[in-house]
Amino acid sequence: MLNLKILLLSRKFEIHSSRRLVEEGVSRGHTMLLWDPEWPLARLKIQPDIIIPRLGSYQFSKAVKVLAAMERQVLARFNPPLPCLINPSQNYTVARNKWFTYVALTEAGIASPPSYLITRYDETFPPLEFPMIVKKLESSKGEGVFLAHSTKEVAEIFAKTGDEELLLQEYFPEAFGTDIRAFVIGDQIKAVMKRTAQPGEFRSNLALGATGEPCELQPSESELILKTVRTLGLQVSGVDLLRTRKGSLVLEANPCPGLEGIEKYNQQNLASSIIQYAEELYGKHKTSR
Ligand code: ADP
Ligand code: MG
Repeated sequence: MLNLKILLLSRKFEIHSSRRLVEEGVSRGHTMLLWDPEWPLARLKIQPDIIIPRLGSYQFSKAVKVLAAMERQVLARFNPPLPCLINPSQNYTVARNKWFTYVALTEAGIASPPSYLITRYDETFPPLEFPMIVKKLESSKGEGVFLAHSTKEVAEIFAKTGDEELLLQEYFPEAFGTDIRAFVIGDQIKAVMKRTAQPGEFRSNLALGATGEPCELQPSESELILKTVRTLGLQVSGVDLLRTRKGSLVLEANPCPGLEGIEKYNQQNLASSIIQYAEELYGKHKTSR
């Protein structure tokens, strides 16, 4: 049996998904180390075989710099220095940012809701109808997603968030507060759930009280999802799809998808699947040396 040193870059063991990964790693015979991005890197004395970054949106820009430093200073000790990690920092940065994601997906011809970047000083408005969706660029769990009915409300969102830039996006009311979350590992869609928001809520994030149920994908949706993760270069992600009159559109690919809800609703051990994927990645890295 392989005994790998797996470093989980995560703020806390108490975070459910981090704890699940540690549990499953240990049960598969690995040594699991949880490293808080706040800790000085010079103190890291062991050479991990694999790094699994679990970077939420809290203090993301700081944490992703630490991940980039790890790629250079820790993984580069391999010879040759092949990155043996799940979701590299550059791809994380794009996937965490809703504008960068939109640009990357659009350039790859992947359908997503028409979106525009505006700054708080812009005087002209993009050609979207009210109500429209307003999103903070780097937030998650639905916390930075709003519905605006007028330019005044958009201005209020700027004031409330304090952000210099926001994303404006076409609103698809026909989704009725539902979306599809696909959990992808490598090139395989491992689990799919349909999420339904609480009554009166358009955001179907589980963190906002939505519920989930297992769901089937159309073949064209599976293709869309796999093309999305290939385009964004993510090895583990949670891809959100919105079913609309324009077909299924990609909302985002979350590079740090939560495990709690989807493992429960789909009755699957996804933490173990991630660890098994890490083992395969390590195996490939070894043989290519
Ligand atoms: P977050 O990263 O915070 O999860 P998302 O872009 O995934 O942000 O949006 C959160 C939720 O809001 C989605 O899961 C969906 O239910 C709803 N939503 C987002 N964009 C739209 C849209 N353009 N039209 C209708 N509903 C949307
Ligand atoms: Mg989402």
